[in-house]
Order: sequence, then C-alpha cells, then structure tokens
Amino acid sequence: MRKLVILGSTGSIGTQALELVAGADDLELVALSADRRWEQLIAQADEHRVRRVLIADPESAEKARAAWDGEVLNGPEALAELILGAEPDLVLNAIVGSAGLAATVITLSEGVDLALANKESLVVGGDLVIELAAATGARLIPVDSEHSALDQLIASESGQMPGTVERLTLTASGGPFRGRSRSELASVTVEEALNHPTWQMGGKISIDSATLMNKGLEVIEAHQLFGTAYDQLEVVIHPQSIIHSMISLADGSSLAHLGYPDMKVPIAYALHYPRRVKLALEPLDLAQLGSLTFEAVDEEAFPCLGLALAAGREGGTAPCVLNAANEVAVAAFLDHRCSFLQISELIAATLDDARIEQTYSFDTLIAADRAARQATSEHLAALA
Ligand code: NAD
Ligand code: MG
Repeated sequence: MRKLVILGSTGSIGTQALELVAGADDLELVALSADRRWEQLIAQADEHRVRRVLIADPESAEKARAAWDGEVLNGPEALAELILGAEPDLVLNAIVGSAGLAATVITLSEGVDLALANKESLVVGGDLVIELAAATGARLIPVDSEHSALDQLIASESGQMPGTVERLTLTASGGPFRGRSRSELASVTVEEALNHPTWQMGGKISIDSATLMNKGLEVIEAHQLFGTAYDQLEVVIHPQSIIHSMISLADGSSLAHLGYPDMKVPIAYALHYPRRVKLALEPLDLAQLGSLTFEAVDEEAFPCLGLALAAGREGGTAPCVLNAANEVAVAAFLDHRCSFLQISELIAATLDDARIEQTYSFDTLIAADRAARQATSEHLAALA
C-alpha cells in the first residue's frame, strides 16, 4: 500500500482523484486539504476514512472543528505538519494558483514523490522546484494532460542520443472563444468564458483557457519539466482535444499521444506510475471522430500566450509576476470588476512596472508574488 495525501481535494482534479482512489487497491488515503469548503471536505474524509485534514481558511477550520471529531489543522505550520505527519509515499497537489507552491516545495524537500496538477508551482518557482526534485531524488509526475502525454512520449525515447527529440508541440483546444477576433472579444461575459467546449474544470483554469494564458503557463511548465528551450516549444490549436501533445524527432518522425479528453487518464497515470491501471473509458474510435483539425494561434486576439512566452524567456521572477498578475486579473474578471480584454492589459501593465530578479529563493518568489498582486490591484483600481 502506498500512502497518499490529496491537497485541494474539493476541486475538479481533487474530486476526480478521490473517485480513482476509491477503486484502487494499492493506495491508502491518509490526509486531505481544502481552502474553505469544509463541509464537503469532511464528507470526503468520512467517506475515505481519513482522520486528518487541513483547512486553509481559519473561519472554515473553526467550523469544521466544531462539527467533526477528526483532526483539523490550520495556520502557518499546518501544511508541513500535514505532509510530514502523514509520512506519505505520494502527494497529489491539486491546489489552484501560487498558493500551491509551498506544498510542492515541502513535498519535494522531504524527498516525497509529487503528482503535480498545480502547474502554477512550476511557473512561479520552476527553477527552485526542479532543483529540489533533483537534489532529493523525489519524482515529479505531471498531471496536466499535455505534460503527462509529453512525459510518456519523451520516456519512450529515453534510450536515444541527446538531441533526438527536437521539438515539443502542445495542443490547445482554443477555448470557448476560438475563431473570434479581438474586437469580438470586447464584450464577452463571464458565463460565456466559463463555458469550455471540451474540459470541465475549476473557474480559474477555465478563464485561463479562454484567454489562452493556460497554454502560456503550460509552455513555461514544459520548459521547466523537460528542460526544453522556448524555441523548441510550439503551440497549435486543436479544437477536438484528442491529440494531447506531440514530440518531433531528428529522423523526421513525430509521436503523438491520443485519447478522448478526460482528466482521469493523466490523474490515474500520475497516481499509479509506473503502473497503468484499467479505466472504464470508451476506446478511441477514429472513424467515428472522422477528422482532427488544427490551426495557428491568433496572437492578436489572445495576447496572454505571448505575454507568458516573453516572461518565460526573461526568466527569474518574471513568470512569478505574470502568474500573480493573472490570478488577480482573473479573479477581478470573475467578479465583474474588469472586462475580458482587460485581463491581458492588467498583466502587461504589471510586467512593465515590475523589477525582475534573476534569483529564485522561496522568499524572493513570495515577495515577488505579493508585490505583483499589489501592483495589479492598483492598476485595477485605476480602471474604475
Ligand atoms: P478548482 O478551483 O476546482 O479546485 C481548487 C482546489 O484548491 C480546491 O480544493 C480548493 O479548496 C483548493 N485551494 C485553493 N486555495 C487553497 C489554499 N490556499 N490552500 C489549500 N487549498 C486551496 O481547481 P481545479 O480545476 O481542480 O485545478 C487545480 C489545479 O490543477 C490548478 O492548478 C489547475 O491549473 C490544474 N489543472 C486542472 C485541470 C482540470 O481539468 N481541472 C487540468 C489540468 C491542470
Ligand atoms: Mg493542460
């Protein structure tokens, strides 16, 4: 039995992971965490016989303590206590946003294997995260579907000479606004932006998919995970989301990873690695699909991808600033405090002013994240 901790278990990825764990005979769930949905978290804990949870929001933690006889952790030391106290073999980090960085850092520092859905960890602190994994020997298994696919494809070529894999291609569905011009995006609503055509996801990543920032974050994530130069990373729009990623090799071959869009596949791969488990899913039927289509990204309508690439190339704290600005802007859009197009404008304005540092200690990253949030909030206030 491998002991598993799931962080962010009340979210989209977390709940799908719990369903998979319920049917697994080799995983024992030992701890859970959430931000504030304490009733759902406790119901999950009871169902899976977990006696220890972390609730980040203090008021929600108080309510949970009053209502439940298990252990409810909260406060600055709670995350380390939860992760170390559980002595896990594997942690699934399904927290959303830069709030997930601390969990990634603690897990890898302890040499514990990490199934990483929280792509923001690799955007905000990729250099630090990769260094920690290398130093402790902990395995970092991506849950993001494109990166899970790339991980598998690259592993299949691992016996080859260095340089055999020449290019990585990440596919993007294009989101709900694929095909719209910049002027057509001026008046789109929150409801339209949340209505993703192929994936069911949390609110923040759904907006990131609509702006294409999600793909920008994913290019940075791929750069960090696989050490691939930005010039060798490519994005193509593929509305059906059947091809999850592709690698191109020196001899002219390209290898792709295919499947219906279902996050259970990469989650199960990460939870059971290196074993593949049987999932009750439809086999891929190419004749029924009929055709797969591809298009180039419209960079004028979707400037977030270019902003992310520029921040990734700049390196240091630039991706951290980009991510923080994006989190504040997306929250504002969801709250009807800015328009869809203003999301990228707020991020660009924040990056323009920011002092980028080429160091990456945890404290430097936290300070850069905080300063960028403050700067974006000020730009936001100036819009009103
Ligand atoms: P979600 O909004 O549905 O869930 C987020 C979870 O994080 C919740 O359980 C919430 O309680 C928890 N959380 C938030 N702030 C926290 C904090 N400060 N401390 C502890 N817990 C906190 O998000 P999601 O769609 O499940 O996405 C989670 C992560 O996985 C994101 O980084 C996202 O980019 C990534 N991801 C998601 C999908 C998907 O299909 N949903 C696909 C690929 C990658
Ligand atoms: Mg993805």
